[in-house]
Parts: sequence; structure tokens; C-alpha cells
Amino acid sequence: MSEGTTGKKAVKPAPRCPTCGKPAVPDFKPFCSARCRDVDLGRWLEGAYAIPAVEADEDEDDEGRY
Ligand SMILES: [Zn+2]
Repeated sequence: MSEGTTGKKAVKPAPRCPTCGKPAVPDFKPFCSARCRDVDLGRWLEGAYAIPAVEADEDEDDEGRY
């Protein structure tokens, strides 16, 4: 915080879009576009709803065998 004591304003690094790495656009901060925002939201939701479908399938398969 107290880095710039020379009176010069430190150049703020432009925030990057977490989805594609492009410079963020203020309208879609911190993303570069509505699309990237949706993509990130989709990923987040996927993680929140992470359903171990594969494991469940395996379990069903095992039970079906017996
Ligand atoms: Zn982007």
C-alpha cells in the first residue's frame, strides 16, 4: 500500500479476465465480456453441483452384477 512515496502514481496493472486472460472490461469486471462471465459462472456452478455420476454408475454396475 505505501509503495509509492515518490509522488508518482504507480501504474495499476489492468485486471485480467480469469476466463481467457484478456484485459478486463469495466462493464463486465473482472471479465472481458459477458460471454467469459457466463463461462466462469458455468464452471462455478458445475463445481457446486459436482455430481459423481461416474462413480454412481460404477456402483450401479457392481450391484447389477450380483
Ligand atoms: Zn475473457
